[in-house]
Amino acid sequence: MAEPARPNRRLVIDPGADSSDASRESRGQIDSGGETAVEALEPRILERPEHRLSRGDVSSEALKVLYRLHRSGYQAYLVGGSVRDLLLGGRPKDFDVATNARPQEIRRLFRNSRIIGRRFRLVHVFFRGEIVEVATFRASPEPPESPDDWEEAVEEAAEEETADPPPPPRREEDVFGTPAEDARRRDFTVNALFYNIADFSVIDFVGGIPDLQKRMIRTIGDPDVRFEEDPVRMMRALEYQVRLGFEIDRRTTEAIARQHPLIADASAPRLTYELLEGLRSGSAAGIFQAWRKAGLIEHAFPDLPNHSSEITKILETVDREIASGRPYPTPSLLGGLFLANFFTLVKETTGDNGRIDNVALLGRLHDLIEPAGASMHLPNQTLHLIQQGLFTLTKMQKAPERGRQVLKLARQDYFPVAWDLHRLATTLGLVSAEAHAGWKRALERMSKENQVERSKKGTEEGRRPRRRRRPRRRSR
Ligand code: ATP
Ligand code: MG
Repeated sequence: MAEPARPNRRLVIDPGADSSDASRESRGQIDSGGETAVEALEPRILERPEHRLSRGDVSSEALKVLYRLHRSGYQAYLVGGSVRDLLLGGRPKDFDVATNARPQEIRRLFRNSRIIGRRFRLVHVFFRGEIVEVATFRASPEPPESPDDWEEAVEEAAEEETADPPPPPRREEDVFGTPAEDARRRDFTVNALFYNIADFSVIDFVGGIPDLQKRMIRTIGDPDVRFEEDPVRMMRALEYQVRLGFEIDRRTTEAIARQHPLIADASAPRLTYELLEGLRSGSAAGIFQAWRKAGLIEHAFPDLPNHSSEITKILETVDREIASGRPYPTPSLLGGLFLANFFTLVKETTGDNGRIDNVALLGRLHDLIEPAGASMHLPNQTLHLIQQGLFTLTKMQKAPERGRQVLKLARQDYFPVAWDLHRLATTLGLVSAEAHAGWKRALERMSKENQVERSKKGTEEGRRPRRRRRPRRRSR
């Protein structure tokens, strides 16, 4: 995740830099109608001393990839969000590389790599704890594929059981392009800067440097066209605005106001992916509010609950916890969005005697979650974890009285989700702080007892004479 970029006036050490529109216009970056005329652009090159991007801040794995490509005679650039974040003085979430090497050539250079993607072949180079994504320069402005497509493509390739991977789905000449084309097919000017490993310069084909200085999100080219081409870019614009604390340029904002219903046409896996990226970004509360305000949630996820203020509170807690390093699995994040609605259902299915009608509650819960799950293409297991995670909260309304009760629940696959939701529910006052503290104590006690048990077993085993294992014969 990119750290919130600190405002930094020394983004680019370039005394001559003038980011005013007048200056952009004089350099041919804006036509007289105020539109970015990217085709007419001369690339602007910031030499090594003119910018603050230092190799020391690039991961050693990404550097290895860049250098090996370069040494093998290919062009190699660091691209996308990593260049943006490094120029802002932040820490990038991941490092992407673009090159003129073709996917098969990249694959041959890196033994620890895999070709992925159906339409656009990318190469993932695997390192311990990091994947560097390497893409051949693309000419096409078509939207990217979702990770679902990548996985299916890998599975299909495996099923074919041929030594050679399947032929590229499109003529390579139609897909691959020049660095300038690759920059222009990207979404926003600040996302299209290239860091050249050959001479450590930063190349700006689209006016990204002045926009970075102005802290401005602006589509490359006509925003209406770019959003029609790929409506998910509207979600991305608002996400960057909130996460980076940037403004969105007026024409881009107006285009979102016009085009937001188009988001309903985007593919479900891509929408879900983008939603989860936003929820996990550390700025989920603001991003979700911005999406909602722009009408994107209503059109992209019509089955998500509409409890805006409750969802904001929940997401503020999620943001705080993510900032302190707590991981949030998908079912906990999505379950959190349903918390307020779930407790309404609990109220509605509780009789005068204070007992919950479990059958009725489970039925209503299913009706609440199922449509969202289907439209978001959630796997059944995720849906199961959300439903059971929420339902379990009814058994955790009071501090536990018996250890057995804790043990029984804690063994379930959905318990970690229930536990996240229990914590989140306290922030809305839906679960009392006392009940939560009681469960916390009981779980800590249980885990301590388990540890003692395990270390006892460990010592007993240590005393037992070890059986010598005969070396296994290798069967051919
Ligand atoms: P993050 O910090 O979230 O990783 P990022 O800018 O790196 O932000 P990614 O989703 O990792 O975003 O995508 C990498 C780059 O690919 C982007 O910076 C952008 O140049 C390009 N890109 C991604 N999605 C799109 C899109 N929908 N349309 C055009 N270009 C895109
Ligand atoms: Mg990225």
